[in-house]
Amino acid sequence: MEQVVIIGSGPAGYTAAIYAARAGYAPTVIAGSVTAGGNLINTTEVENFPGFPEGILGPELMERMANQAARFGAKLVSDDAVEVSLTGAVKQIKTLGGQHFEAAAVIAATGSSYKELGLESEKRLAGRGVSYCATCDGFFFRGKELIVVGGGDSAIEEAVFLTKFASKVTVVHRRGELRASRIMAERALAHPQIEFAWHSVVEDIHGDSAVGGVTLRDLRSDQLNRLDAHGVFVAIGHTPNSDLFKDQLALDRDGYIIVDGPSAPDEPGNAQHQATSQPGVFACGDVVDRTYRQAITAAGSGAQAALDAQDYLEELAADAAIAAATV
Ligand code: NAP
Repeated sequence: MEQVVIIGSGPAGYTAAIYAARAGYAPTVIAGSVTAGGNLINTTEVENFPGFPEGILGPELMERMANQAARFGAKLVSDDAVEVSLTGAVKQIKTLGGQHFEAAAVIAATGSSYKELGLESEKRLAGRGVSYCATCDGFFFRGKELIVVGGGDSAIEEAVFLTKFASKVTVVHRRGELRASRIMAERALAHPQIEFAWHSVVEDIHGDSAVGGVTLRDLRSDQLNRLDAHGVFVAIGHTPNSDLFKDQLALDRDGYIIVDGPSAPDEPGNAQHQATSQPGVFACGDVVDRTYRQAITAAGSGAQAALDAQDYLEELAADAAIAAATV
């Protein structure tokens, strides 16, 4: 039986693995078969992770975290957890590849996934001009006109990145101001290849086998406008990847795993900030966090989850020692 199994391999999962490994628990990290490294794998330059004054590419940062975890004895498994049973003292985890793990403690660090617009045409043209990852697909749109939907840091980062390939990028945003951080917003607003369609939403995406354009609806006038475009990049946020846990752990109304948090009463057994509704199960990163969702905050909560798991395992060991002494 494992002492700690970590499900997920973004900054939260790998940081939890580094801490748990250095504490001597040799954790197993179920890192994902195609998604190892989490959402930062789809990011270009990360400029705000402390310790990298020149910036670092997202995939390189994740590779470094994985190597650091492995160096201290974490076992990284390229497989996906598909079924968990977390209610008993021995936690069970089954994977897509048919592996079965048993653990005394589990750390859920499954992150979040890209939100979709919810259009039929979006589904039909996904991978045929509709994309959720500029770094993955931007290359295919050399000299083309593109749409980016959203007004947050992701949308703006994607828009700026796509100007390397596109002749023009139009950012379609439902409000009249960006949510993105000031420095990124200023970059985009001043960019000669970036235009903005404010107070607008994508009503439909046109094309049979490839994107040919979009219909936008102006939310102030309700007027429909057609815009030529060969690609639509959707960057409207994320939903937590908590389906795996929905019958096992308490989730909030949007599916985020509920953890005790820093304001939990400081009572024995209740002072673990990343503790979920099940004893011995801890959660961290974007699957618990609707607010900050930064690599550094995910990493921080991953460290907390590992320390909480350590605390839990030490309590278990102490209880077992007392029970053995009193027999
Ligand atoms: P976000 O900050 O939640 O922004 C989502 C954007 O999409 C918002 O502008 C929102 O509009 C819009 N939106 C949401 N649902 C929509 C819908 N159904 N139709 C149309 N528009 C919709 O998400 P994010 O940009 O992915 O960023 C997530 C977190 O990661 C943030 O904390 C961000 O700072 C961080 N991040 C940082 C970097 C970086 O520093 N390099 C890069 C990427 C992300 P409203 O504004 O009206 O709500």
